[in-house]
Amino acid sequence: MSKAFVIAETENGARELCAGARKLADEVVLVTVGAPVAGAADKSFHIDVPAGNIADDAYVTVNKIYDAEGGDVVLGEQTLRALSLVGRLAAKLGAAAITGVSAVEGGVATSMYFGGTGVRQAKAAGDVSVYTFGAGVFDAAEATGTDAVEEAAFEAPENAVAKTGSEALPPSDVNLAGADAIVACGRGFGSEEDLQLARDLAAKLGAELACSRPLAEGVDWFPREAYVGVSGAVVSPKVYVAVGISGQMQHMVGCNGADVIVAVNKDKNAPVFKACDYGFVGDLKTVLPALTAAL
Ligand SMILES: Cc1cc2nc3c(=O)[nH]c(=O)nc-3n(C[C@H](O)[C@H](O)[C@H](O)COP(=O)(O)OP(=O)(O)OC[C@H]3O[C@@H](n4cnc5c(N)ncnc54)[C@H](O)[C@@H]3O)c2cc1C
Repeated sequence: MSKAFVIAETENGARELCAGARKLADEVVLVTVGAPVAGAADKSFHIDVPAGNIADDAYVTVNKIYDAEGGDVVLGEQTLRALSLVGRLAAKLGAAAITGVSAVEGGVATSMYFGGTGVRQAKAAGDVSVYTFGAGVFDAAEATGTDAVEEAAFEAPENAVAKTGSEALPPSDVNLAGADAIVACGRGFGSEEDLQLARDLAAKLGAELACSRPLAEGVDWFPREAYVGVSGAVVSPKVYVAVGISGQMQHMVGCNGADVIVAVNKDKNAPVFKACDYGFVGDLKTVLPALTAAL
């Protein structure tokens, strides 16, 4: 009987990976370092990281759980902390870790490389395959499992990082995985106030708001988890409306799994028009209110 060992930080990530793990193994074990997650795996562990420690140092506990439970395949969420834990486990196992995986078929993992200019197929050598996945590869709604969650006592490593302080950031309500509709904003938005036009359209569509990378990392109009693309979230909604986004490949690889792509751009030669199903050539300040009103 094959077993999958899932390491996750967020609840959505845990559910998604457990749903994916079911396709790869008969039994699913989950370890989370965020909130406890019930109903997603056959066996679920939660590590409560004490206030004076950092989640990355939960690796001692994660590795011990792995020693007890085992696993033929390890699935890790692609968040900073989970990546750190997965890396530690892979190192301990002497296993190869394949990151940024978008699909696994017959033990062969597909991932992008060279900033999304290429797609690579790779197979992990060794007894244990270790993969990490960005958001949106699997369907979180399909996760099933026991409601029991076992609390695993945090065990600090010998040279633990001592947390000297922390500051809470405003909570993020971004939930792109599983969204049916997404309105994504790009650099075509000249000012932060204009984002209200996208919010109005999103409200009409019942859509989540997302963005291109410059709007989350160049300016901080959006949280990091809201940007779509090769280094951000990979999404597959029914409808993806790309507004003021040029359509660079690094962005489009994150949304080309959408059933329908609609583009709004004032430049008729923008590459996004080659990747969309419907396109509006025009200024977003005119097109968005008209679209919202028409809906
Ligand atoms: C290794 C690497 C990884 C990367 N990863 C990502 C990633 O994960 N996600 C990501 O998004 N990017 C990523 N990028 C960046 C990517 O290459 C592009 O630079 C970025 O996607 C461009 O964002 P944009 O389309 O919003 O901006 P721009 O390319 O500047 O496009 C803005 C568009 O808005 C249009 N516009 C301007 N004004 C208006 C208006 N008033 N009305 C309508 N349209 C208007 C313009 O015609 C233009 O097409 C990565 C780059 C590298 C090198």
